[in-house]
Amino acid sequence: MRKTLVAGNWKLNGSKDSIKELLGGVLAGMSEAKSDVAVCAPYIYIPLVQELLSGTDVAYGSESISEYDSGAYTGEISGAMLKDFDCEYAIVGHSERRTLFAEKDSDTANKFAAARKHGLKPILCVGELLEEREQGITEEVVARQLDAVIELEGVEALADGVIAYEPVWAIGTGMTASPQQAQDVHAFIRGKIAALNAGVAEKVQILYGGSVNGGNADELFAMADIDGGLIGGASLKAEDFLAICKAG
Ligand code: PGA
Repeated sequence: MRKTLVAGNWKLNGSKDSIKELLGGVLAGMSEAKSDVAVCAPYIYIPLVQELLSGTDVAYGSESISEYDSGAYTGEISGAMLKDFDCEYAIVGHSERRTLFAEKDSDTANKFAAARKHGLKPILCVGELLEEREQGITEEVVARQLDAVIELEGVEALADGVIAYEPVWAIGTGMTASPQQAQDVHAFIRGKIAALNAGVAEKVQILYGGSVNGGNADELFAMADIDGGLIGGASLKAEDFLAICKAG
């Protein structure tokens, strides 16, 4: 049985004060969590998050990572630097990175490799745009995004990370995919991996992301191939985030 994981993705939000309040609230309610819990923070707040979470059951990580290890790459943060602050996770290929910052499938694959190389668990985001769903090419898009990583790192590498299926049209819009719509894509992803390596397919956690909240998490997490969630908006308030951590 795969354990569920609920991971917050704070995006470009927070301040020292708000993070202290948020994590204080999350830690106070953690005894009721049914899932493993993690938060992914803006780089600059990672030392604070480390201080607040060390010795607790809440894991943490970054929202992206450089594909480079060191050198003349102004503005980048490497996997070694993230490890220096005991990060466990690094989100790679979030749709906002892909669409707003022009990250290609190959960039995401390189970031996945960088995270793995430094002992971080990459949370690999995949998902289709609304027009791609309407064109009926959801599976093709998700397969292409996965293949970029599989071709670079091999299918076995997926077992070192987590996959997050996030339909782009559901992110931050309040338009959650129905549990069945999400399950269909999750089953497709697991089936695609199983065709290459059944053991990896059985082991890898596939999270759903896109307008998850305390009201829909139970139904989503009950689906056979949904192993938790990647949570944006609802990860910014302790009460909302805890409601999801208690689901399932
Ligand atoms: P949302 O974001 O929960 O606000 O839809 C999810 C994500 O972007 O990871």
